[in-house]
Amino acid sequence: MLTVKNLSKSFGELEVLKDINMEIKEGEVISVIGPSGSGKSTFLRCINLLETPNSGTITYEGQVVNEPAYDKRKLHQEVGMVFQKFNLFPHKTVLENIMLAPTKLKRGTKEELKAQALELLDKVGLKSKADEFPGNLSGGQQQRVAIARALAMKPRVLLFDEPTSALDPELVGEVLKVMQDLAEEGMTMVVVTHEMGFAREVSNHLIFMEGGYIVEEGDPKEIFANPKNARTKKFLSSVL
Ligand code: ADP
Ligand code: MG
Repeated sequence: MLTVKNLSKSFGELEVLKDINMEIKEGEVISVIGPSGSGKSTFLRCINLLETPNSGTITYEGQVVNEPAYDKRKLHQEVGMVFQKFNLFPHKTVLENIMLAPTKLKRGTKEELKAQALELLDKVGLKSKADEFPGNLSGGQQQRVAIARALAMKPRVLLFDEPTSALDPELVGEVLKVMQDLAEEGMTMVVVTHEMGFAREVSNHLIFMEGGYIVEEGDPKEIFANPKNARTKKFLSSVL
């Protein structure tokens, strides 16, 4: 579905991503782990062109997307992103937050989009909060709304950048549960996370990044049980 080839990205003199290669297949759940500053967020942001790579290609459904002729809007509509800080619009209700983008894109009548938004809220367990403002919700609830908002675009791939890192520990589980449900429904996902339980149990491919490189990747359970690279070993022993 999406292929990254020889991707490099620098900020000025600082080379943040170095010759990254990966493939995202339909229905796959990929976890990306690694120390802070290793380039995980930049990698995700390059995938949906929030950052422009310096070299390499990103191919989505057979089309190279990081070239001037490509209309990024298609990618932005089909590859959704959920951020660490939920980025909900504070002066809009939960329902309005979810309806905003599909309304702008005229994806249906107001009634249809409202019905769809309520269905998504139900899915993340927050139907009763439709008319609340984000500020009245807990962090975990806000993140679940942000996931519902991303789903309202009917994305083909969802990217998550540390979706639970800003949450109080007792709220992490409710967000992971929603993500696990999505994974079980077959949603294609790339998840940058520090939740090693999720990485091990829910994802079917694991990528370990350090210093801008993919140092090791493969079957999550195998890597957790028997990391081959010394740096992966060191990282895992520091977080487990
Ligand atoms: P991670 O998500 O793994 O913590 P990041 O991708 O956020 O890593 O950052 C990798 C490196 O790139 C860090 O050294 C960071 O300071 C740098 N970096 C990230 N974004 C920018 C930017 N917009 N301008 C300059 N440097 C950046
Ligand atoms: Mg990051």
